[in-house]
Amino acid sequence: MGAGHDHGHAPPAKGTATAAYKGRLRIALTITLTVMVVEIVGGIVADSLP
Ligand SMILES: [Zn+2]
Repeated sequence: MGAGHDHGHAPPAKGTATAAYKGRLRIALTITLTVMVVEIVGGIVADSLP
């Protein structure tokens, strides 16, 4: 948060950086969805238990 920081930062180079970012994004999304499903299923199962 410096003053006069109004220049544009260079965009990531095409190729590896973008590919790696997309790969990590996909992995994070997959993990998030998996955890969400597990929590939902776990909640339903726990709710149906005596
Ligand atoms: Zn900057």
